[in-house]
Amino acid sequence: MEQNNNSNPAGKERKVKGKVEIDIQRCKGCELCTTACKEHALTLSDTINIKGYRYILANNDVCTGCVNCALVCPDAVITVYRTHPKKKPVDITPTDIREQLQSIIVPAK
Ligand code: SF4
Ligand code: SF4
Repeated sequence: MEQNNNSNPAGKERKVKGKVEIDIQRCKGCELCTTACKEHALTLSDTINIKGYRYILANNDVCTGCVNCALVCPDAVITVYRTHPKKKPVDITPTDIREQLQSIIVPAK
């Protein structure tokens, strides 16, 4: 049976679609992101990266672009791209997240 990658298990069509990119050579395999992902889109690899850690692989077919994984990653190695058919694409990078966090921690004078 053909699977519709733009639908959730409840059969409703997903409006927002996500795409995750991971800098696998900087990932340390802590799995905080796999716990944060409610869609089970992230899994640990069988092979290791240059640092000797198993790294995260993403199944973008089920990613909703919720950004939870990027927010919890302590090394900011995840970039999430989000698209909505009626809205402009939103690209959230580790730099954006860092700047947002800095503005919270050190409010501008
Ligand atoms: S953006 Fe959300 S759904 Fe996509 S991999 Fe990250 S936590 Fe999972
Ligand atoms: S939270 Fe970041 S460092 Fe930890 S496994 Fe996920 S991508 Fe790798």
